[in-house]
Amino acid sequence: MSRSFDVVVIGAGPAGYVAAIRAAQHGKTVACIDEWKNKDGKNAFGGTCLNAGCIPSKALLESSELLYRAQHEFKKHGIKTGTVELDLVTMQKRRASIVRQLTGGIAGLLKANKIEGLFGHGKLMPGKRVEFTPVDGEVEIIAAQHVILASGSSPIELRIAAFDGDKIVDSWEALEFDAVPKRLGVVGAGVIGLELGSVWSRLGSQVTVLEAMDEFLFMADRDVAKIAAQEYKQQGLDIRLGAKVSAAKVGKKSVEVSFDDKNGSQSIEVDKLVVAVGRKPHTENLFSDDAGIQLDERGFIVVDNECRTRVKGVFAVGDCVRGPMLAHKGSEEGVMAADLIAGEIAEMNYDVIPSVIYTAPEIAWVGKTEAEVKASGRAYKTGSFPFAASGRAKAMEQTSGMVKIISSKDDDEILGVHIIGPMAGELIAEAVLAMEFSASTEDIQRTIHAHPSLAEAMHEASLAVDNKALNYPNR
Ligand code: FAD
Ligand code: NAD
Repeated sequence: MSRSFDVVVIGAGPAGYVAAIRAAQHGKTVACIDEWKNKDGKNAFGGTCLNAGCIPSKALLESSELLYRAQHEFKKHGIKTGTVELDLVTMQKRRASIVRQLTGGIAGLLKANKIEGLFGHGKLMPGKRVEFTPVDGEVEIIAAQHVILASGSSPIELRIAAFDGDKIVDSWEALEFDAVPKRLGVVGAGVIGLELGSVWSRLGSQVTVLEAMDEFLFMADRDVAKIAAQEYKQQGLDIRLGAKVSAAKVGKKSVEVSFDDKNGSQSIEVDKLVVAVGRKPHTENLFSDDAGIQLDERGFIVVDNECRTRVKGVFAVGDCVRGPMLAHKGSEEGVMAADLIAGEIAEMNYDVIPSVIYTAPEIAWVGKTEAEVKASGRAYKTGSFPFAASGRAKAMEQTSGMVKIISSKDDDEILGVHIIGPMAGELIAEAVLAMEFSASTEDIQRTIHAHPSLAEAMHEASLAVDNKALNYPNR
């Protein structure tokens, strides 16, 4: 007799495993299927985020930043060290161990919530049946009341620079280099290009980033992008804008990358080339042709605002559906889908999803950029406060950057908050909460912030919106 569950989730990344846990919290019987295999050949839950994305990249960003600070900042603090050296083997072991602990933690969470965690391939068939092909064993048809598709995304490959797993690599391979490439090329100055470019640059690579667009960090506020460009340049990242890559010729020891930019046709020689030009939804063999699932023109599964597909009882969440490809966006969609399945009212506020780029300084924002507010025609005011005027930032020796707040002129509602500076990824949480509650800058102005703290910069920026900043001259 075939097994049946109230909910079957295909994919155990941050969208899928969270959906499975919430469904189990509602008392549903749940199975969560995942086929992820790590480079050691072992299956693991956690998806891209835990195995090859958010977590390993942040582990290396932290380690490499510590090395950089030890080499460049310690003497300013009056700390003398001997020669500070890189031990890449230990650094990579630490990264792998964090990944192992966290992915093992997901397996434990599934078990604790009585979720059937299944390693293998899941495929949606008509009638909410799921064909499950286990890693070893017989194919099985599992019946479900509800199905949640959470199959994630995979790196986009460039035809002219196809991945070869050695010299032309994707972001996952670039997280697992066992030696520091002397010269590293990166195609794409997006989030991955900047984060991984920073890691290897701090560890000693000479990094060149080739970005097709003329505008740097086009998705960020212009004031933030300007500061970021200066900071990265100072750190030695060579970012070439308007660079159209035309070929990548793999030689015995290096790759010759040809590109055209405003200076004409050029080429660089690198030891490794990371291609990070975006990710595409992963839906290969995820559903049968007659399952009723529709894809849009970019390959995303078509869903409504509540993540319902065209098939009753089948939801899709995370990177495989429209919206930003972010772990926290996927998790919240997973929670919403599971709550809706349980008959609860649930919705997701797509206007208030924070973005963070974990470089040094960090960049974080929520809501609209100034250009977007301007284009909307809404009258607005802005206020900003530099970390150079923050006592805490000075004590930390991290004074680059600022907080910028945009609010509407008529009712003072906060429309966007943009931070570049120390701990921006943590500081943005206050702005997210404020915007979730439709707060005004006056609400933040009247909120007491601890002294000395980085959060005071948020307070001062909100005061600056009304020319009331206390610790920095107003305009
Ligand atoms: P995924 O995490 O991709 O998980 C999908 C899972 O489904 C996979 O395990 C896959 O094996 C499985 N699967 C797919 N199809 C099937 C099938 N048919 N049967 C069985 N299993 C299947 N986001 C952030 O918010 N913050 C960050 O700091 C961040 N850093 C990143 C760094 C890098 C280098 C990369 C590549 C990404 C990063 N991201 C970050 C993006 C983040 O990883 C994704 O947005 C997130 O993982 C999406 O979650 P998901 O659950 O939708 O998909
Ligand atoms: P991205 O969309 O952030 O950046 C891709 C960049 O490549 C863009 O700037 C684009 O203009 C450029 N590009 C595209 N084609 C090109 C070409 N042929 N030549 C040169 N440049 C080209 O994508 P990504 O950096 O690959 O990241 C993928 C996804 O993963 C993103 O959606 C991101 O949200 C997510 N991610 C998030 C984090 C984080 O939250 N900190 C970290 C890493 C990845």
